[in-house]
Amino acid sequence: MTTIPGIDPHIPPSGPGCVECTAGGGWWVHLRRCAQCGHIGCCDSSPAKHAGAHAASTGHPIVRSYEPGEDWFWDYTAHRYARDVVELAPPQHHPIDQPVPGPAGAVPDDWRDLIV
Ligand SMILES: [Zn+2]
Ligand SMILES: [Zn+2]
Repeated sequence: MTTIPGIDPHIPPSGPGCVECTAGGGWWVHLRRCAQCGHIGCCDSSPAKHAGAHAASTGHPIVRSYEPGEDWFWDYTAHRYARDVVELAPPQHHPIDQPVPGPAGAVPDDWRDLIV
């Protein structure tokens, strides 16, 4: 099997929501999955941008969308998208019944005014 730098297809995602937001009571717009360690973080439109912060602090360069129906990868180092790179360990997205933005109960009513 080919080894791609920054991607370990055997690592499952860390959970259904952003690791840091879940721990700290935050909320997110969309979720991204680190392709190297499985860390789930919130996207760059979310208030805390934990996926980008994770990439910057760990050097893990590639995330995959963790949204249902999305299969793209983003390379923070190359600043470009990739598709169909490799099949990662399941699940491929957060639970279908989990709201966007999420998680349930933590999203303020004026969330649209709070994102980029
Ligand atoms: Zn977050
Ligand atoms: Zn990572």
